[in-house]
Amino acid sequence: MEQFDVIIIGGGLAGLTSAIHLAGEGYKLLLIERYPYPHHKVCGEYVSNEVVPYLKSLGVTLPKVAAIDTLQLSTKHGKLLQTKLPLGGFGISRYTFDNALYKRALSLGVSVKFETVKNVTYLNDSFTIDTENENSYSAKVAIGAYGKRSGLDKQLNRNFIYKNAPWIGVKAHYAFPEFPENLVALHNFEGGYGGLSKTESGAVNFCYLTSYKSFQTVKSIEKFNSNIVARNKFLNHFLRHAKPLFDQPMSIAQVSFESKQTIKDHILMCGDTAGLIHPLCGNGMAMAIHSAKLASERIDNFFKESGYNRSKMESDYSKKWKSTFKRRLQTGRALQAILLSARASDILMGTITKSPGLIRSLIKRTHGKPIAL
Ligand SMILES: Cc1cc2nc3c(=O)[nH]c(=O)nc-3n(C[C@H](O)[C@H](O)[C@H](O)COP(=O)(O)OP(=O)(O)OC[C@H]3O[C@@H](n4cnc5c(N)ncnc54)[C@H](O)[C@@H]3O)c2cc1C
Repeated sequence: MEQFDVIIIGGGLAGLTSAIHLAGEGYKLLLIERYPYPHHKVCGEYVSNEVVPYLKSLGVTLPKVAAIDTLQLSTKHGKLLQTKLPLGGFGISRYTFDNALYKRALSLGVSVKFETVKNVTYLNDSFTIDTENENSYSAKVAIGAYGKRSGLDKQLNRNFIYKNAPWIGVKAHYAFPEFPENLVALHNFEGGYGGLSKTESGAVNFCYLTSYKSFQTVKSIEKFNSNIVARNKFLNHFLRHAKPLFDQPMSIAQVSFESKQTIKDHILMCGDTAGLIHPLCGNGMAMAIHSAKLASERIDNFFKESGYNRSKMESDYSKKWKSTFKRRLQTGRALQAILLSARASDILMGTITKSPGLIRSLIKRTHGKPIAL
């Protein structure tokens, strides 16, 4: 069985960032990802600027993208608010973003296998990781960075997997040249909201999240777009004039915002595997990248510092993760609870669109400062 210092399960932003960080410290690493790069993912593709200094320090090169400094928000009845974003961000497709990190990881000597992990066992201070191709790998440390939901969560018997996850995500790229480069727009409709922003190719990403209850009424994306989404006049204009660039929109079901354990069976969970913030906050990618830094630093201490044992690494990571992200997640959860009620959501959106101060304060509560190096 091949032995590694660290095995990373899942090669999204959290997994790739930890691979790059730890490769820079000289560890023998294996990253196991289900799908070859590049690939599209259901995501709003708005990245908060808080990750920029850290990504630069890791030597990640991204294509030139326009800065996004303005937010537009509309209620389902078409009331519109426009405000400057406190920190701002940029738009980049996950196709390009994840691939850029993958290339950086390869350049640092990270081993990458395209396989699906089906089983993780911790025994005698070491992990054995089995894949669906019947390969087994062993490592001293394991990072779980396999995203929102995976068969592995069942194998690991994680609590959240047995709870109701009533959200669906849909995404596609469109040609819509009139959309401004510096804008991210969030438009509400019955049971959900849709985000619009430009990516590095000039295509506009349209990604929405809706409750299963709302989607169930029509059950097809095409009908849902025309019957429900298009009731918002801004989205109606977009859907009528934008040209789809994907053959079919992509979708994901069972999106859960339940709290999750940051450590399970001694695996350090990173990114969405440790907790997903409501996408309306536009901070999930930044949290995934930041959590990879927190985990990597503690893993580095575990290998280098005498007295910094596994138990210290685990408790230190859990504490740091909570203190860094608790406030954002609490605000995101409160938002999500409101969005589940049509009446409460109407009141909130109505209030927000009259108050740029309130929206900026909500943005600050759901975002971090630029990640300290
Ligand atoms: C509708 C929607 C819109 C969003 N919009 C935004 C936004 O605009 N801005 C923002 O910052 N965040 C947004 N987010 C959140 C953001 O997409 C996530 O927080 C981010 O992708 C988390 O990255 P990750 O690396 O943790 O997980 P992922 O990117 O999901 O990566 C996990 C990887 O693990 C792999 N994997 C899974 N299981 C296995 C297995 N068993 N074996 C091997 N590999 C496996 C998967 O193939 C995947 O590549 C949105 C989320 C949703 C649902």
